[in-house]
Amino acid sequence: METACGCPDTERAPFAPHAALESRSLVMAAAVLSSVSRRVVPPLVVILGATGTGKSKLAIEIGKRRGGEIISADSMQVYRGLDIITNKVTVEEQAQCPHHMISFVDPLENYTVLDYRNKALSLIDDMHQRNQLPIVVGGTNYYIESLLWKVLVDTGNGEQTSIALQDKTELEKLGRAELHRRLTEVDPDMAAMLHPHDVRKIARSLQIHQMTGVPHSRLLAEQRGQDGADEIGGPLRFRDPCIFWLHSNMEVLDQRLDKRVDEMMAAGVLDELKEFHRRYNEHKVEESSQDYQKGIFQSIGFKEFHQYLTAGPDVGEEQREALLRQGVEALKQATKRYARTQNKWVRRRFLSRPGSSVPPVFGLDVTDVSCWEKTVLTPALQVLESLKKGEKPSLEPIRVEGIKPRNKRSRHTCELCDKIIIGDLEWKAHLKSKNHQFHLRKKRKSEMRAECDQVLGVTLAAGSSADMQGTESTVGSTDCTLAADCGANMLGCQAPEDSLVTAS
Ligand SMILES: [Zn+2]
Repeated sequence: METACGCPDTERAPFAPHAALESRSLVMAAAVLSSVSRRVVPPLVVILGATGTGKSKLAIEIGKRRGGEIISADSMQVYRGLDIITNKVTVEEQAQCPHHMISFVDPLENYTVLDYRNKALSLIDDMHQRNQLPIVVGGTNYYIESLLWKVLVDTGNGEQTSIALQDKTELEKLGRAELHRRLTEVDPDMAAMLHPHDVRKIARSLQIHQMTGVPHSRLLAEQRGQDGADEIGGPLRFRDPCIFWLHSNMEVLDQRLDKRVDEMMAAGVLDELKEFHRRYNEHKVEESSQDYQKGIFQSIGFKEFHQYLTAGPDVGEEQREALLRQGVEALKQATKRYARTQNKWVRRRFLSRPGSSVPPVFGLDVTDVSCWEKTVLTPALQVLESLKKGEKPSLEPIRVEGIKPRNKRSRHTCELCDKIIIGDLEWKAHLKSKNHQFHLRKKRKSEMRAECDQVLGVTLAAGSSADMQGTESTVGSTDCTLAADCGANMLGCQAPEDSLVTAS
C-alpha cells in the first residue's frame, strides 16, 4: 500500500519485533530505491560522435534544461594538463553545468578503464539519488562501453586495482616470451587468442588470473553467457539508456577539424606542449624511457610534436620551422583519422551490432551548424521528453543493417573432413582448402551415384510396367539424359560455385 505521497504505508503495520523491523526497513529502502530509479528517466543519456561534432555543446544544453550533470568519457581529459590539445571544456562551459571526470589524475599516473568505470558508476548512482540526469559525453569508446555493458571483468575494489596495476607493470618487464609462456600455463585458451607480441593484453590476462584464481577466458565466457549478453560482451547495465549519435558529412567535418587545429595553435597549444614536455617528459626522453603508449602521453598531438619538442639547440631556425609545420600537419591528419575510427566504432558496436543488448541510437545530423538549435537540440530534447513520458519518440532510431561482425572464437565442425575449426575467417579458409574440396567432391559423387541408381531403378520399374500395359512411354528417353548427366558428374565434374556457398 502507498500513501498519497508515494511512501510505503508502514504506519499501519502492526508492531513488529526486531527482525521484522529490519525487514521492514529493507522494504522501505527498496521502495525508496525503486522510486528513485522511476524518477530519472532515461537513467542515462550518452552522446556519441566523432571529435569536432559538438558533443559537449549538446550535453551542456541538455544538462541546463533537464537538470543534468555531465560525465566526461575521455581517457585523455581525466589527466591534469594539456587542456588545449585534449580539447577540454572551458571554465565558462563548466560553470553552465556540473562536469565530472575531468582533470583529476596526475599525468604520471596510469588511469585504467576499471578505475574509470568504478568512479563513473558511483557518480551515476549518486546523481540518481539526487534526481539528476547523468549525461555521458566523450570519444573514448571503451570507457563508454564499460558503462553501457557489463563487459569488464571485475577484479575487486579500487584499492586492489591500483596494487594490481603495479604488478602489471612489473609483469610487463618480464618480456613477451616469458609472459606468453606463463599465460599458456594458466590459461591456454586465452594465450591462443592473443598475439604473442601483445604484452599489455597478456599481462592483463595473467593479472586477472592472479587476482581471481580463474582463467580470464572462462570469466569472459561466463560473462557472455549472462542473460541479454551477445558474443561481443555482457548485458546492458541500465535499462533503456538514451543514446544520441552526432554525425556529419565527412568533408565538412574534416574542414572543421583542420580549422580547430589552427585555432589550437592560435590559443597557445605550443606553449602548453613545451611546458608539459619540460615538466613530465624531458627527463624521460633523456633516459630514452619516454612512452607514448601510456597515460596522457598517448594524447593526439603530443607525440606528433615529438621531433619539434626534442630538437636541440644545434637545430637551426629554418629546420625548427619545418619540424613545426610537420607537427601541425601530423596533428591534422591524426585528428581526422581519429574521427573516422570513432565513427567506425559507432557503426560496429551500435548500428550493425547483432543481438538484443543494443539500445536504440538516435542520429542527429550536425553538418550544418547554422540551424543547430532546430536540427540538433530541439529533436534531442523531444526524444528525451517522449522517453520521460513513456512514449515512443517521433524521431526513429537509426539501425544500419550491417554485416555480422566476424567472430574470432566461433567453433565450426566440418563433418566431411572430421575437423574442428575455430574462428570465422579460418572456417572460410577451410571451406576453400584443397582437402575440404576433395572430401566435398567425394561426397557429391557418392550422392550422385545413389541418385542415379535410384533413377535407373525407377526407370526400369516404369519400363517394365509400361511393357506390361502395352503402352508407349517417353519417360525412358528423359531418364537416359538424366543418367548421362549423372555419369558426367561421376566422372569428376566440378560442383558449381554456388553449391559450394550453400555448403558453407
Ligand atoms: Zn572440411
